[in-house]
Amino acid sequence: MKYLFTSTGVQVLESLSFTKTLYAFDFDGTLSPIVGSPDAAAMPTKTMELIRELAKLTPVAIISGRSLKDLKDKVNEIPCQLIGNHGLEGLSTRTKSILQAGKLCTLWKFNLEENWNDLKSDSGVFIEDKTYSLAIHYRGSRNKKKARASLFKKIAMLDPSPRIILGKSVINLVPTGAPHKGAALLETMKKLNLKCAFYIGDDDTDEDVFSIPDGKIISVRVGQKNSSQAQFYIRRQSEINALTKLLVEQVRLCKK
Ligand SMILES: [Mg+2]
Repeated sequence: MKYLFTSTGVQVLESLSFTKTLYAFDFDGTLSPIVGSPDAAAMPTKTMELIRELAKLTPVAIISGRSLKDLKDKVNEIPCQLIGNHGLEGLSTRTKSILQAGKLCTLWKFNLEENWNDLKSDSGVFIEDKTYSLAIHYRGSRNKKKARASLFKKIAMLDPSPRIILGKSVINLVPTGAPHKGAALLETMKKLNLKCAFYIGDDDTDEDVFSIPDGKIISVRVGQKNSSQAQFYIRRQSEINALTKLLVEQVRLCKK
């Protein structure tokens, strides 16, 4: 994993601007800073301006774990591809997977809530029902370690077992075999007839993109992590504006 803001990193980014490239971004922790409550997350005005600018010049996608409706509200009509629920929502070929995912999530939520007694008094632990996936948040718990252990016990009892994707104080439950962020990125490239892609994300769910063995996809992680399969990293979320500004400049120069 190499730091992106070096001459090598900048050159790699520049090479993308000479070809048909999809610029794709995760939302939480990437375009928006992580905050206490998921509802309060928002893109800072400057980031919003820069992404809008980039989207006017070149194809842009935002691929998030949020539900598509929620994501649309947060993104404020930027002209770009929006993909929600870790890759399940926003692409046209998902009807069967979506119906199955919806049924499974209803069942899992019911089973988790049946068994929620020990967590009832802890208002910092809650299930966010995103219709086609569940996100169980425990950031606000009084005893995060205990809450996490209890949640894992409950999740282990679910049948059929979900795919578990860990986030920052959140456990995502997604139907096994459902399309993920990596599949969504490849499908969007195909749909828009783009040969190359840039992708940036901050979490375990983004590893589904980072691990695609394709030299034409340049991947960046927010935060250095040795076990990640991303090629590059930026040090912190606040570097996203510098990165997006650089992308805008590079793409604009190529258009001239
Ligand atoms: Mg994220």
